[in-house]
Amino acid sequence: MKDIPARKAQENSRLDGARLALAEAKANLVEAQLAEKKCETEAEEARAKIRELRISQSSNKMGNNEYRDISIRCDQLQQDADAADNRGQALMEEKIPLEEAVKKAQARLDEESVGVNAYIQELDERLAEVTAEHDELQGRRRECAAKVPPDALAKYDRLRTRRWPVLVLLTDDDVCDGCHMKQPPAVAQAVRHNDRIVGCSECGRFLYREV
Ligand SMILES: [Zn+2]
Repeated sequence: MKDIPARKAQENSRLDGARLALAEAKANLVEAQLAEKKCETEAEEARAKIRELRISQSSNKMGNNEYRDISIRCDQLQQDADAADNRGQALMEEKIPLEEAVKKAQARLDEESVGVNAYIQELDERLAEVTAEHDELQGRRRECAAKVPPDALAKYDRLRTRRWPVLVLLTDDDVCDGCHMKQPPAVAQAVRHNDRIVGCSECGRFLYREV
């Protein structure tokens, strides 16, 4: 009963590998998404700048040199925007296997979870059963213990962890069936009288005689 929580933890940790693989796959995908977003932003910024420069070209009275410089600048910006678009396109394609990897890792975790969860449920049910059984036995023990004199009960509790079974037969030859020592006549006699609890003179186990 005591090892059930530990076994549950152990079962749960079997999913750690699958959980880690999923977390890694998701992290890779997020990284690619961020990189793609960055390219989009760069391209948009370049295009916005071009629009701004074109407006200034059409509205201002400017010299030929200045007009030409702005045109050169716009061409450069257009090249930057195209390059960013291309990089974004490449990243979008790179994302496909990463999305696949996330799906696969999720499927693996789901699959492993089914088995582990079923087993954990089994352990929980077993724990509930054993706990109920334990409670019932404890209740019965309390009922029985209430009928036993306190000193005998204390002796029994001391013996039960070290000398099991506590209750043993005294044979016809007056030998304790627990430690196999011959009992003194007084002990044998007391067992025969059967009006109180008598312990073996050697091991202390409670003795009874078959009638
Ligand atoms: Zn004995």
